Amino acid sequence: MIQHYPFTLLPLPYLYDSLEPYVDMETMYYHHDKHLQTYVDNLNRLLKPWTEYHDWTLERLILDNRELPESIREDVLKNAGGVYNHQLFFAGMTPNPTLPQGRLERALLLDFGNLDAFYETFYQMALKLFGSGYLWLAADERGKLVLFPLPNQETPLPKNLEPIINLDLWEHAYYLKHQNRRADYIRDWFHVINWNEAGRRYENALLDAELRKGN
Ligand code: MN
Repeated sequence: MIQHYPFTLLPLPYLYDSLEPYVDMETMYYHHDKHLQTYVDNLNRLLKPWTEYHDWTLERLILDNRELPESIREDVLKNAGGVYNHQLFFAGMTPNPTLPQGRLERALLLDFGNLDAFYETFYQMALKLFGSGYLWLAADERGKLVLFPLPNQETPLPKNLEPIINLDLWEHAYYLKHQNRRADYIRDWFHVINWNEAGRRYENALLDAELRKGN
């Protein structure tokens, strides 16, 4: 879906309580309706006077950020990143999870040996992230999987990486239920990963990689 100014809060693709007990209803409500809404509102407020950027997509606001006026550049980057990252994060969870399938499954097995080993590596890296940010599974320009942390609301886009899944490790993502227990939050999240959506993103990344090769 192509989005541009004025950006809107995309509805959750499931009910607030449908990821219980792994993600609780209260966290889901505040995270989506308050935290994400704030990023949406800030982004619209910043862009409102600058009509020449009203047809720019989220991706363009991030990738061509340096073309924006200096007075709004940094704040647009942070808030566009906040909207982009949260949209991926919320769509990356589901009350009806499946196992990874198809080419994503094969890529995961190739790199990690088995799914448990992938979860363990992901867990260790997510625990280690200092402060606020996300842990990302993404695909590089050749379709190879990469796992890495990014601080705050930075996105993988400027690194030419296509996101597959991301785990929000800001305290607001888990404090109401898990308090300081980030480890429990990470393990709970493993139960609600939308591998179906992740597989679709990976197929798109591979398609892009093939198209680039053809050029
Ligand atoms: Mn968040």
